[in-house]
Amino acid sequence: MAKPPVTLPKNSLTSCHLVGGRWERGQGQAVSLYSPYNAEKTGEMRFATPSEIDQTVSLAAQAASAWRKVPIKERSAILFKFRELVLSELDDIGNLAAVESGKTPAEGKAGLLKGLEVTEFAISLQNMNLSGALEVSRGVTCQTERIPLGVVLGITPFNFPAMVPLWMIPIAIALGNAFILKPSEKVPLTAGRLGDCLKRAGLPDGVFSIINGSADAVKHLVAHPDIKAVGFVGSTAVARSVYQLATSHHKRALCLGGAKNLLILAPDADPQMTVRGVVDSFTGCAGQRCMAASLLIAVGDTDHLIAKIVEEAKSIKLGYDMGAIIDQKSLEKMEGIIARAEKAGAKLILDGRKPTVGAEFSKGNWLAPTIIDHASPDMECATTEIFGPVLTIIRVKSLSEALALDKQSTYGNATSVFTQSGGVAKLVAQESSSGMIGINIGVPVPREPFSFGGTKQSKFGALDITGMGGVEFWTDLKKITSKWSQSDQLNWMS
Ligand code: NAD
Repeated sequence: MAKPPVTLPKNSLTSCHLVGGRWERGQGQAVSLYSPYNAEKTGEMRFATPSEIDQTVSLAAQAASAWRKVPIKERSAILFKFRELVLSELDDIGNLAAVESGKTPAEGKAGLLKGLEVTEFAISLQNMNLSGALEVSRGVTCQTERIPLGVVLGITPFNFPAMVPLWMIPIAIALGNAFILKPSEKVPLTAGRLGDCLKRAGLPDGVFSIINGSADAVKHLVAHPDIKAVGFVGSTAVARSVYQLATSHHKRALCLGGAKNLLILAPDADPQMTVRGVVDSFTGCAGQRCMAASLLIAVGDTDHLIAKIVEEAKSIKLGYDMGAIIDQKSLEKMEGIIARAEKAGAKLILDGRKPTVGAEFSKGNWLAPTIIDHASPDMECATTEIFGPVLTIIRVKSLSEALALDKQSTYGNATSVFTQSGGVAKLVAQESSSGMIGINIGVPVPREPFSFGGTKQSKFGALDITGMGGVEFWTDLKKITSKWSQSDQLNWMS
């Protein structure tokens, strides 16, 4: 069945801040939004001023004091309603995510569904006993309770306008915090729809807020004394700097960065599963995802598989199977890396530069699937996160050479292996230094409640962002030790 293309909005949309439950246009610098599909203006917004940010935090702090006292079952009921509302508007919100981020509508919907999976996990927390108690000596009991932190902050990237915010919002809110979202300035519209659904689900004013802005807003928010924890997802350089800023203010921070994910290809790999897995991985979301395959380590004679991967990648139809690149600057960066790879001696076996697209998309930012073969490990294309539909292939003779490249990588989100040998799969899973491992799976994102998180420079801070890691991150653990009289002479009761 043909995949429907994106539906671009007829009128320009406005993204507002959500301050104490009210939508505010704001007074700060005005910024226009453009769709990656055709470079047409899709909307506008204003960056928040420092005083608008301070007001938002102050109203969130008031809301947090009341919200922490609402029983978890009532908090969860609101999230359940939120989930129903998002599901009923899935096509529409999924399309909006596609309009602003360049994804296909199907990918926009898939991101929302993954975000709802985290929402379902958050709703289920009411049925888990997160506290513990033990009589540690006669009459003395130790007990633990998970306590909300107060006002917490999430800073998110452009590439998953709904999913990444939903990695954080439901868990933090279910556990009694007030949450402020600073979405990417490239994709603020979808965040507004999430805020609208939370409001209609009955979330009290100020428990969820949105601040539009860029680096200045992030710095002001992270340093604000009433912000108690910082969750960040974005590029490694910014993740590192936000982590340093937050921790210098004695705040807990969990900052997820970029990636350069490896696919280790063994000669015995199942052709059908491998070809689909590899191509979906490096072309899905036009390669703009932190779990995209980027570096294929081809072990031994794998020419028969690589030829099929090239054929499959050629069949991808732009605007239908694969979306656009977020902006012209990112596209030029990708084209530059491809040109320099060729100059450095690698072989371009599929060149997706300056592709032909339908007239409706002709002004957009397009790069078709591109494959660079025979790269060496020190080349820019093999070490830099390209964040586009570009697969770099390094040829090696043995599995130990492949594992050595895995160890050398500065990043640590994902490593996948394609093989029919259980022994090879087991060795890669044991020896890889990545946080998420795929066996015959190109995008090894764990399903909830298995949590999401990488290693090395793909993550600054401990814990994972979802699953029980998220529960720990957004709460303090209070320990209560009590001693009561052992007497059974409670005469006043009789
Ligand atoms: P980005 O780092 O440019 O922006 C992320 C957020 O940081 C945005 O909200 C932005 O406004 C803010 N920001 C930008 N510059 C800043 C600065 N100097 N100081 C403070 N804040 C700043 O990332 P992006 O281009 O929006 O997203 C793509 C990147 O995100 C890729 O590197 C990708 O791998 C990464 N990513 C990682 C994960 C993960 O789970 N590890 C998931 C999704 C995306």
